[in-house]
Amino acid sequence: MSVMPSLETLTVHGLGRVAEPYRDIVPPIHLASTFERGEDGGYPGGRMYSRDGSPAYIEVEEVLRQLEGGTQALVFASGHAAASAVLQALQAGDRVVAPRAMYWGLRKWLLDLAEHGYIELAFYDNVDLADLDRQLAAAPTRLLWIETPANPTWEVTDLRAAIALAQKHGAHTLVDSTVATPVLSQPLALGADIVLHSATKYLNGHSDVVAGALITREDSALWQRVRSMRNLGGAVLGPFEAWLLLRGMRTLHLRVRAACANALQLAGALEQHPAVAQVLYPGLPSHPGHAIAAAQMSGGFGGMLSIRVRAGEDAAREVAARVRVFKRATSLGSVESLIEHRASVEGPTSRCPPDLLRLSVGIEPVADLLEDLQQALGV
Ligand SMILES: *Cc1c(COP(=O)(O)O)cnc(C)c1O
Repeated sequence: MSVMPSLETLTVHGLGRVAEPYRDIVPPIHLASTFERGEDGGYPGGRMYSRDGSPAYIEVEEVLRQLEGGTQALVFASGHAAASAVLQALQAGDRVVAPRAMYWGLRKWLLDLAEHGYIELAFYDNVDLADLDRQLAAAPTRLLWIETPANPTWEVTDLRAAIALAQKHGAHTLVDSTVATPVLSQPLALGADIVLHSATKYLNGHSDVVAGALITREDSALWQRVRSMRNLGGAVLGPFEAWLLLRGMRTLHLRVRAACANALQLAGALEQHPAVAQVLYPGLPSHPGHAIAAAQMSGGFGGMLSIRVRAGEDAAREVAARVRVFKRATSLGSVESLIEHRASVEGPTSRCPPDLLRLSVGIEPVADLLEDLQQALGV
């Protein structure tokens, strides 16, 4: 009888290859930067130099490829480096259409590239497909950028419909799926061309690695340029970070499911809290994107939610100052819960409401998290 292990088992086992000669259960860390040539001048080991693609990436890229259902995956030195490789793979002056609500660091990067003439840039309303259609129709567009749920207000974009519009207008689609994770959403199966992850977040999951990843549906001409941009741009991941990322991913499914369950419970409880004006979480039936999220995410709605504090910005900062279990820090997707007053991090160009607190819900017992938020909000 042949056993076909599930994707989850493959992930738990980190692919499960046993390394010779000691039959290590976990892969050794390949540190070599360079590899020996044969007497004939060839490369009998199939490797030349680690900036081209280190053997340290084999397992982690294969797990990522399988998790997203793609044909190839690449790891990068950060989520930003992964995004940069895609943007550098475009032709100068190519048009990019990006969502109004998106991870602010990459929004800043797109605006900077546009200001300096590297790309043309237009924005669309994350949830307004008619607006997206108009923006795509306005001029030939090379790349549609999608992020769902989108930082830090968690708008949900209808992936199937948005990708169909991009295809109609001849644009490639990139989906930043950092918050959804491959556990909950598989954009490539819906026709997206490239999925981007800040692997710093859920994929690694322990606040101890900065890394990025891209997974492609097809080995397209664009992808081949992206591949060469990692090598030429040089934003390669270190072997130890690749190893840590693989190690972190072994518990990905458990961590994501636990964070989703906690976030859903907290969102429901906070929605009833008198000090909270609004809870932004796609898992709540009151969220305008709930039905679309339910249709395109499976197994949960993610571990990220935001609350708007009724008494305003100063009160929101005071709530953040009073937490005892949540940690005050930026970033997301780790086992420990984090809280952040987002507008003050993003600075003067922020589009984030000043009364908003962003919560990255971890995997602690939910009672500890709820009690902490209740005491911080004041009951
Ligand atoms: C953090 C983040 C990024 C950037 O990734 P880095 O690893 O910090 O470079 C991109 N997109 C989203 C949604 C993020 O949360």
